Amino acid sequence: MRFLLTFTLLLPLPAADFDAKDPSVLAKLFPKGAALRRLATDMQFIEGPVWMPAGFLVFSDIPANELKRWDGQSVASFRTPSQHTNGNTLDRQGRLISAEHDGRLSRTEADGQVVTLVDSFEGKKLNSPNDAVVKRDGSIWFTDPDYGLGTRAKEQPGNYVYRFDPAKRAITAVVKDFDKPNGLCFSPDERRLYVADSGKPRHIRVFDVQLDGTLANGRVFATIDKGGPDGIRADEAGRIWSSSGDGAQVFSPDGQLLVRILLPEAAANLTFGGKDGRTLFLTARKSLYAVETRTRAPKR
Ligand code: MG
Repeated sequence: MRFLLTFTLLLPLPAADFDAKDPSVLAKLFPKGAALRRLATDMQFIEGPVWMPAGFLVFSDIPANELKRWDGQSVASFRTPSQHTNGNTLDRQGRLISAEHDGRLSRTEADGQVVTLVDSFEGKKLNSPNDAVVKRDGSIWFTDPDYGLGTRAKEQPGNYVYRFDPAKRAITAVVKDFDKPNGLCFSPDERRLYVADSGKPRHIRVFDVQLDGTLANGRVFATIDKGGPDGIRADEAGRIWSSSGDGAQVFSPDGQLLVRILLPEAAANLTFGGKDGRTLFLTARKSLYAVETRTRAPKR
């Protein structure tokens, strides 16, 4: 059933619009009166939000070739050009890891220098890295669909999911049979890896992570029924939050759809952040949105 929370009389901003089969789930996931806020708009196509240890949000405006920051008040430039960065995440040291459409995975050092981590596999240039996640062992897992190739010739024979070990500078393809691998995240215990396929399947697959860094037992976790999945995040309870054509969809650890967060623009990515880590930030086309939740990212 459609469950509309209307607190417009109490709050100055439009009410969050949730759709849940079981309304009691809403009380579990969101504080009373939780309202969707549009923090900024009039950007080109935003993606890749990440909450920085210094206390602000970084996100990508891909066509603008810029990383932006939101500091709680307003949006400013963080880096330009960004090599058309899409996804962003943090490594174990809190450094920014960026998936750049121009063809590499980069790391921003403490002094601000941007270094190339990896830009090729088996001697061929990567397509256009889309999103990345860092495991507690320091390995960086990322997807490489071909959305951002532009006029560049495609050198890779496919669109793979990779594991990169920065210590050994070693890259391995861990899955090769995706159409367009996109967002990815680990379960809180890191025994499972979830990967979105925003191509024809429009579903999220889950894999068992083996001790040797390979993946096994891939199966469909959930299918996104509006638009497709792009960015995905796990919360501390192992639920999976996926961007979708209607905003965002939240799934239980066993793949049941719990809640839709309905946005006026299709979301491409999302992340937890804010002072207490419980704010969900959503990058949705031209606008940045936020809603308070009662959960947060898994402990790192
Ligand atoms: Mg993406």
